[in-house]
Amino acid sequence: MAESGGIFLRAKHRTFSGLDEDAERHWTGPFCFIQAADPQFGLMKAWRDGDCDGGGDEWAEEVELTKQAVDAVNQLRPRPRFMVLCGDLVHAMPDTPFREGQERDLKAALEGTDPSIPLVFVSGNHDLGNTPTPSTVEQYCSAWGDDYFSFWVGGVLCLVLNSQLYYDASACPQLKEAQETWLEEQLSKATSSTETKPKHILVFQHIPLYLKSPDEEDNYFNLQRGVRLNLLDKFKKAGVKVVFSGHYHRNAGGCHDDLDMVVSSAIGCQLGEDTHGVRVVVVTANNVIHRYHSLEQLSKHGMDEDLRKLLQA
Ligand SMILES: [Zn+2]
Repeated sequence: MAESGGIFLRAKHRTFSGLDEDAERHWTGPFCFIQAADPQFGLMKAWRDGDCDGGGDEWAEEVELTKQAVDAVNQLRPRPRFMVLCGDLVHAMPDTPFREGQERDLKAALEGTDPSIPLVFVSGNHDLGNTPTPSTVEQYCSAWGDDYFSFWVGGVLCLVLNSQLYYDASACPQLKEAQETWLEEQLSKATSSTETKPKHILVFQHIPLYLKSPDEEDNYFNLQRGVRLNLLDKFKKAGVKVVFSGHYHRNAGGCHDDLDMVVSSAIGCQLGEDTHGVRVVVVTANNVIHRYHSLEQLSKHGMDEDLRKLLQA
């Protein structure tokens, strides 16, 4: 159960209250979860106004979209084991106007989530600042819980990373180092022969490793090549199956050498041709199958029939 801090502060001490190893390390059959990204309260109007560097002074549309997502997710059967929001929870950067109001209204919209569906939060560049500092990281953690942690669900190991520490840790090098040490420990434990092996290992972060190909050039929406190849190497050696991300506001990604890089479009502002939506992920003994659903589709019809059938198997 959630300890003090309620549904928003369950990630503490680098783990997640209610989804811990003791209770969840064994495989109990197929299950589903929801992956969403970039509610980014405030961006829709800011984007229309051509003022993305401003904090976004209105977010009524994002409130409605988030509530629509919550209602649709609550209706799913079987129920998702959790819903993860892969960063850029709000648009206003730390210590800027509108930040407080956006965070308050996002929490109010998420409060309606069925209590049996834990909310897992991932930090994005807007949540921490493009160049995070110990202070902005601390602010994020006091509002949304730890910036990196691991949890177990139904025999699957999930690692949540702070991708901003890979993007630019110039103002907080010790935090970057601490996350790297922690990640090494997590991956080596997951592959250790003395421990129960996870059925799958999944990673959640805000910035994608790549949008289309591991070899692509650096751009605003991916992690720099050196960092990217290093992480890919570590992930592949440990047998990570899927890396889920957001940040791009479009669906993208691709599978290379058995590692599936998933880039999901946004609950909030769309920068491409996709619709507001979330991704339904079905985990089976051998596979992790995922598909983006528009909010309208999910509200009206639930998850696609073929995915639902996999859960009955
Ligand atoms: Zn972002």
